[in-house]
Amino acid sequence: MPIYEYHCRACGKNQSHLFLSQREAATTPPCEQCGAHKLTRLLSRFAYHQTEAARLDDFDTAAPRDESFYRDSRNVGVWAKKRAKEMGVDLGSQFEETVENARSGKILGKILDDL
Ligand SMILES: [Zn+2]
Repeated sequence: MPIYEYHCRACGKNQSHLFLSQREAATTPPCEQCGAHKLTRLLSRFAYHQTEAARLDDFDTAAPRDESFYRDSRNVGVWAKKRAKEMGVDLGSQFEETVENARSGKILGKILDDL
């Protein structure tokens, strides 16, 4: 399920949208704040890297995750990484690349399926 972040050019609100499929993600949703069809898709890599260490620290993989968790693309990969650490698995550099792809919404579904 791809997650994308958007900026609304009408009201200025940033927001995340979760899609059930790549096909659905091909269409841009209306703004959740003002309803305008003026959303621009964002990439949020920088913000993610800034907070990743902190997120890994307080992250509890046993806690229930609701829809809002998956709506935050910065959480993509954090859960998987922590879980792997707990299981003593070395994910290696290939995984880092995979997470990068997931973060941009390409293969989130695959990561969740694999774990
Ligand atoms: Zn708006």
